[in-house]
Amino acid sequence: MAAKDPLVIDGFASVQAVRHSGKNKRDPKYGQSKTALPAAGEKAGTKKKVGPKVKIGHTVVPDVFEIVCYECGYTFPLRGRIQKTYCPKCRKTLVANEQIIESDWSGRVKTIGTVQVRNGGSLTKAHVVVGNLILDGRIEDSTTKICGRLELGSNASGDIAKIDTRDILIRADTKLSYRSKLRCENLIVEGNFRGTVEVSGLVTVMPGAFLQGRVKATRLLLHEGGGLKATVKIAGKT
Ligand SMILES: [Zn+2]
Repeated sequence: MAAKDPLVIDGFASVQAVRHSGKNKRDPKYGQSKTALPAAGEKAGTKKKVGPKVKIGHTVVPDVFEIVCYECGYTFPLRGRIQKTYCPKCRKTLVANEQIIESDWSGRVKTIGTVQVRNGGSLTKAHVVVGNLILDGRIEDSTTKICGRLELGSNASGDIAKIDTRDILIRADTKLSYRSKLRCENLIVEGNFRGTVEVSGLVTVMPGAFLQGRVKATRLLLHEGGGLKATVKIAGKT
């Protein structure tokens, strides 16, 4: 099945690694890593210190971030950590602010980094263009464009279905039930989610996760130990 697909495994492995690095630090700057990196252009043949063994998959993957230019949509890798950079295609400067919102907030933010709305925080009449949004609070009357991933916590509420996002992650400790249909390219369930989802790409249910409701997707990857109790429709590209 899909589990044999190396592309699927790669995506899974990188998600896992990123999640752990964020969790260990209990740091809101999810996904950021301070780990030192090999030089950007380094190829397998030039590695002297590491030794030619099996180390590769674990160390390198989490430190390469996929950045989506919020000006032109071009996607490119960024190594090390997310920082101010410029788009290799349209040459615009891309800001990489990280923001934590713990109360009612209604400003504007544009960043390739991560904005986090914590429990008790809310976005109201906000304009948000971000790389990633971690939502564990409320969102209302806002325009939101997420180039990467929307991560939902147990306290996520409001107009979640109106958020324009590429991917959605149900976080590991989350228990969330949501009425309106959520749409995205890829859905990763690490926690417990009940709702209706329409996914143009891959749905992944991780070990220990539980997905209930109605699911429409192109591909579904159910890991051992993951639960699924849903009306599922797997169809080719529509
Ligand atoms: Zn660009």
